[in-house]
Amino acid sequence: MGKKHVFNAGPCLLPQVAIDNTIEALRDFKGTGVSLISISHRTKGWDEVMDECRALWKEILGIPEGYEVVFLGGGASLGFLYVAMNYLENKAGYLETGVWAKKALKEAQGIGNAVAVASSADKNYSYIPKGYEIPTDLDYFHITTNNTIYGTEIRTDIDCPVPLIADMSSDILSRRVDVSKYALIYGGAQKNAGPAGVAFAIIRKDSLGGVSRHLPTMLDYRTHIDKLSMFNTPPVFAIYVMNETLKWLKGIGGIDAIHALDVKKAETLYAEIDRNGLFTGTAAKEDRSIMNVCFVMSPGHEDLQDEFMKFATERDIVGIKGHRSVGGFRASLYNASTQEDVDALVAVMQEFEKIRG
Ligand SMILES: *Cc1c(COP(=O)(O)O)cnc(C)c1O
Repeated sequence: MGKKHVFNAGPCLLPQVAIDNTIEALRDFKGTGVSLISISHRTKGWDEVMDECRALWKEILGIPEGYEVVFLGGGASLGFLYVAMNYLENKAGYLETGVWAKKALKEAQGIGNAVAVASSADKNYSYIPKGYEIPTDLDYFHITTNNTIYGTEIRTDIDCPVPLIADMSSDILSRRVDVSKYALIYGGAQKNAGPAGVAFAIIRKDSLGGVSRHLPTMLDYRTHIDKLSMFNTPPVFAIYVMNETLKWLKGIGGIDAIHALDVKKAETLYAEIDRNGLFTGTAAKEDRSIMNVCFVMSPGHEDLQDEFMKFATERDIVGIKGHRSVGGFRASLYNASTQEDVDALVAVMQEFEKIRG
């Protein structure tokens, strides 16, 4: 079997060293003679993993004082509910940039008054709305910085007159973020930060406490801040892998280093899509994501879609089928994917062009 080039949208590729170190810990956690998944989460050795993981998040992203990082269950999808429960009192505004944004909005509407401030639904979410005004009477404004399904991304930290909340599930740790502009940043780990099974939230502590409803213990962010994410049994396996992933990221030079690599990978693939007459990008050029690159067969070549899929699969390309709501192809270029993976995909596109172009 040849080396697979994995472009899965999530769960996705993780650094090999993180996988290898986790295998070792599954056999023997820190020389205790006990497997990582059999230790008590109240042992000292585990505390150290939690502390290291929190500290790495803060160091790598440059998280300022006054914020805490918590690790939670339920993925980004339960995060949608956490947001509304912890922040929605009178009215919330959402930027509707895709399916995930819409789901976040819908969850908030089950709790109170939440509206879409702007939407790109008119063009199947192929762009990021611009020129909209954020009402100043909102409890918060919610954005989805990277639209995993459509390949669009908000690549700068916007100015916002009300507390800004962002689902960064699929572009966290790919660029430097000015955390101080956000009340809350949250997401599932399984795209850039680790495996499925744990979610993260970066919370400005003084942004909490503004709602009058009763908050169930587990849905109150303050519970998890107070108990350092150990109110209940944490997902030890997922957090361990996340910690190893962050150690890898720090080791290769941190956020600026990975950002440069990520940008280069994305530019390589977009350049081929723009050059190769068989393929067309689906996202507006100025809003293109550096994490998820979406493309389709060009007009007149639509009938080649299945053939290209088969052609690529036979050449060890994995996971480029587009989401069903967009069709075509999507290559996810998360942090652990390499320039070599992207070059392999580009070579396959060029080979296909030679026989079908
Ligand atoms: C994957 C994804 C989600 C859903 O994450 P889960 O952890 O599966 O709930 C939400 N938002 C965005 C932007 C995503 O990419």
